[in-house]
Amino acid sequence: MKYSKMLIPTLREVPAEAEIESHKLMLRAGLMRRLASGVYSFLPLGYRTFRKIENIVREEMDRAGAQELIMSALIPAESYKETGRWEVFGPEMFRLKDRGDRDFCLGPTHEEIFTQTVKSGVKSYKNLPMTLYQIQTKFRDERRPRFGVMRSREFVMKDAYSFDADEQGLDESYNKMYQAYCSIFDRCSLDYTVVDADSGAMGGSGSQEFMVKSDIGEAQIAYCDSCGYAANDEKAQCLEQKVTVTEPALPLEEVETPEARTIEQLCEFFDCGPENFAKTLIYKADENIIAAVVRGDRELNETKLQNYLGCIELEMADDETIYKVTNAKVGFAGPVGLSIRIIADFEVKAMSNFITGANKTGYHIKNVNIDRDTENIEFLDIRNIALGDSCPVCHEKIKLARGIEVGHIFKLGDKYTKALDCLYLDANGKSQTMLMGCYGIGIGRTMASVIEQNYDEKGIIWPMAIAPYQVIIIPINISDQEQAAAADALYEKLLSENIEVLFDDRKERPGVKFNDAELIGIPIRITVGKKTGEGIVEYKLRKSSDMEEINIADVINRVKNDILKS
Ligand code: ATP
Ligand code: MG
Repeated sequence: MKYSKMLIPTLREVPAEAEIESHKLMLRAGLMRRLASGVYSFLPLGYRTFRKIENIVREEMDRAGAQELIMSALIPAESYKETGRWEVFGPEMFRLKDRGDRDFCLGPTHEEIFTQTVKSGVKSYKNLPMTLYQIQTKFRDERRPRFGVMRSREFVMKDAYSFDADEQGLDESYNKMYQAYCSIFDRCSLDYTVVDADSGAMGGSGSQEFMVKSDIGEAQIAYCDSCGYAANDEKAQCLEQKVTVTEPALPLEEVETPEARTIEQLCEFFDCGPENFAKTLIYKADENIIAAVVRGDRELNETKLQNYLGCIELEMADDETIYKVTNAKVGFAGPVGLSIRIIADFEVKAMSNFITGANKTGYHIKNVNIDRDTENIEFLDIRNIALGDSCPVCHEKIKLARGIEVGHIFKLGDKYTKALDCLYLDANGKSQTMLMGCYGIGIGRTMASVIEQNYDEKGIIWPMAIAPYQVIIIPINISDQEQAAAADALYEKLLSENIEVLFDDRKERPGVKFNDAELIGIPIRITVGKKTGEGIVEYKLRKSSDMEEINIADVINRVKNDILKS
């Protein structure tokens, strides 16, 4: 392709809307443009990479035996209503009505629709297992769209769904997808970690996320270098510590703390660290009000709590409810004398003489010892793992990192197939419920993640497999006839060898062309300059700083070699 004919609106300035490198670079390199918050168009250069990622995904899905189809993004409400997700999705679902006032949504994910399709088309165990997939646009009205296509409101997802006769079959289908995901992310040159993820209270027997470690990631990963354990923070298990009480239990003491409510204010007031406090959080779990207690410096893990309670909705109670159950304003709740169900983290059991709210506005109590001062408390792991914690498998020290979730694989079991009566006849003619798995990859998020891991101060450094073009040819002076002719001949030759080449035929200064070539990250750059007469061009890889002069006659082999090597 000739550069002068292409729409590649590169920018010198960093657009104000972008906070992270991949987002900045995708805008600066002219790969995409923003239309509205969380809504983007891919421009020609960006779309080439986008399609290459799609194709890698497609090839690996096909290799794993999955069948491609495409479903509508405009979906009638009924199927989501049957599984309860019309409500569960809440404001994240884009909803609309047709002219006949019927409810529709723009599909956020397609479990229901695939299940219905399989239900109507598959009747016998003889047709199982079956895995179907699509690469299709999803819509989610995200609370915080950000980082460009990392978290957008319209995005393309490869979503696959497996249907099996039994658990063993589901395991096999799941493992095939696991392998396919590894191949996909390897081919995209991503450095990723697979972590255990929560599979929810509502069924599902296993779930893993493919995470790209990155400081800008929104997920927290806990991992252990010694044994390889890795889980996201929703799932990462905190071990129960042995109770080693060192201090004698002191008598309870009520202290007036009128201005201190937050842990920071309390630390100042009592002149001690947050680990000497227990915080009590009041939650509404479906119709019940409960209290959750964790050490002052810990974060409550709502997923663990929700899984334990088995509730559908879990939310912080409002001020009025808190007043009703604690007899105090917000900030003074504590487990002592509280008459609602109390669930405390294991760690609270190991604390002695700690401080907590007195259930009386303006007061806290000192010297609380949970076993002595309370009754009927349920103890379990309900906090987020933290630095310094032990690995739940080998007990070495856990490390923490941030991660971007690029893919998710999930054993759903019969969650949807049961709700939607997706049945088959087994070998004995008996009706059984199919077991299901679902598997998602965000194409745009994968693309942005590759950039997060492959850039320098000059721009993107595309891995060969997904670069928009493999080679860029830059004539130093296009008005020089010898250079122009040599560059053009090289261009035609590369094209005839099916090499994807961009020919920078613009009448721009060499500096501008070099900067653009580096910004858009084309892996191989061939510069046709002063030594053209001697049959010599300059050869450079984007990822290295070495420049070489090579013979024009050797270019094709060299390019082919570098493509093969990558
Ligand atoms: P997250 O926790 O990041 O919101 P999710 O759990 O909602 O992700 P899934 O429903 O499992 O994500 O979707 C499968 C894949 O789709 C994700 O792994 C990710 O690559 C992609 N994805 C999800 N939401 C978005 C989004 N808003 N923008 C871009 N890609 C997304
Ligand atoms: Mg999400």
